[in-house]
Amino acid sequence: MADNNRKPTTTDAGIPVASDEHSLTVGPDGPILLQDHYLIEQMAQFNRERIPERQPHAKGAGAFGRFEVTQDVSAYTKAAVFQPGTKTDTLIRFSTVAGERGSPDTWRDPRGFALKFYTTEGNYDMVGNNTPVFFIRDPLKFQHFIRSQKRRADNGLRDHDMQWDFWTLSPESAHQVTWLMGDRGIPKTWRHMNGYSSHTYMWVNAGGERFWVKYHFKTDQGIDFLTQEEADRMAGEDSDYHRRDLFQAIERGDHPSWTLKVQIMPFQEAETYRFNPFDLTKVWPHGDYPLHEVGRLTLDRNPTDFHTEIEQAAFEPNNLVPGIGPSPDKMLLARLFSYADAHRARMGVNYKQIPVNRPQCPVHSYSKDGAMRVENVTDPVYAPNSKGGPQADGERFPEAEVWNASGEFVRAAYTKRKDDDDWGQPGALVRKVMDDEQRDRLVSNVVGHLKQGVTEPVLERAFEYWRNIDQEIGDRIAKNVQAG
Ligand code: NDP
Repeated sequence: MADNNRKPTTTDAGIPVASDEHSLTVGPDGPILLQDHYLIEQMAQFNRERIPERQPHAKGAGAFGRFEVTQDVSAYTKAAVFQPGTKTDTLIRFSTVAGERGSPDTWRDPRGFALKFYTTEGNYDMVGNNTPVFFIRDPLKFQHFIRSQKRRADNGLRDHDMQWDFWTLSPESAHQVTWLMGDRGIPKTWRHMNGYSSHTYMWVNAGGERFWVKYHFKTDQGIDFLTQEEADRMAGEDSDYHRRDLFQAIERGDHPSWTLKVQIMPFQEAETYRFNPFDLTKVWPHGDYPLHEVGRLTLDRNPTDFHTEIEQAAFEPNNLVPGIGPSPDKMLLARLFSYADAHRARMGVNYKQIPVNRPQCPVHSYSKDGAMRVENVTDPVYAPNSKGGPQADGERFPEAEVWNASGEFVRAAYTKRKDDDDWGQPGALVRKVMDDEQRDRLVSNVVGHLKQGVTEPVLERAFEYWRNIDQEIGDRIAKNVQAG
């Protein structure tokens, strides 16, 4: 007996259906009829439910919230989103990097920290991580790096030998690998980790003055981590542990927040700074560039449809609003292309019309047609035109976020500066930042990792790699691995 208070089931075309349980057959025991269009719609839709998973950062979850500016940084940027008192709706997605869509949340891996600000000047995206650095500094190596962290061709297994082979042949990875093998390599929850832009960006103020900036979202919940043993256990007990924690915290009104601080470097100083400030494998020491507070990010709303609001969320670092621009960081410049291209490949060219990706401000673009376009296009469809279509206004919106470059076309590493080396900053992390207990856990984590299938000559190179970071740590790792 149908309950009159409940809405009747319909097909996707809105046509009422006769049953949620029975297919249309010739008598109760006879064959199914091809005219059962509702059954066909159900089966066909089901076969197409999954869209390709992200490559990488496939496993994640997210939430909505707002960003509120608490300090005045208008001397450094004219971006509306960072003007005093401004509140902006935001979406965040946290993720792991190497695992697949159903993989455990507690594998040792960097975490993605991707943000979308629905600003009055268009969507501003920051695709950050929970670490301030990255494994490589040239985008030509990115695909190879990710393949080395994912699965082998022959047996479909992840392979530590492959990971260390790549890392030890890429010494620029040493800083990020040290981070990863330390306590922060497995955050307790997403609420208990920082987010960093990692990349350097440009800020431009209303007077046209330019600055270089790095973003630090400091967790207001405090940093906390899982040991390797805790994380291994949790991977079996609750592989969605971080996803569940975020959802439940927001559901019970325990809204997590982060304080945004930025490091600011005057434009000209980048030319003479002692190391390349655009190298993604390095931080700017706090002693050289202190943190300036900007505002607070608070998450207070869970998605109601994980697929449409999180799985189809498209973050792209090319979404930069007036007053914020890119920097000469080669990794960032490549990501300005690759993220949007990934979305086009995963969801089709009109992914920005999916509600979660749609700006809150008006859109007047000349994009037209394509698969799954749902918003009407109106004439004129070309520019310039004399028919009243949108017109770019270079006087009100000049291209301010630019810099100069010249030189021969080359394939070469960044020009080295006085303090540019791969071992100094990871060495500082081990010796200056970590205490004895943290160093013990670092050694234990690396030894455990190397013991899982890393073979010669990769193993010997791994010992040398760690001795280059810190002689004593390297010796301890070699001794413990060789002790069996
Ligand atoms: P500082 O002493 O000023 O900063 C050290 C920072 O290290 C802390 O502020 C904290 O960052 C972070 N940290 C603390 N424990 C750990 C850990 N177990 N794993 C990773 N990071 C940790 O020194 P410097 O600025 O001169 O940097 C020294 C080293 O610290 C760097 O080589 C880098 O590895 C690391 N670091 C530096 C950051 C920077 O932007 N300068 C940021 C993060 C790490 P936070 O306050 O962000 O939590």
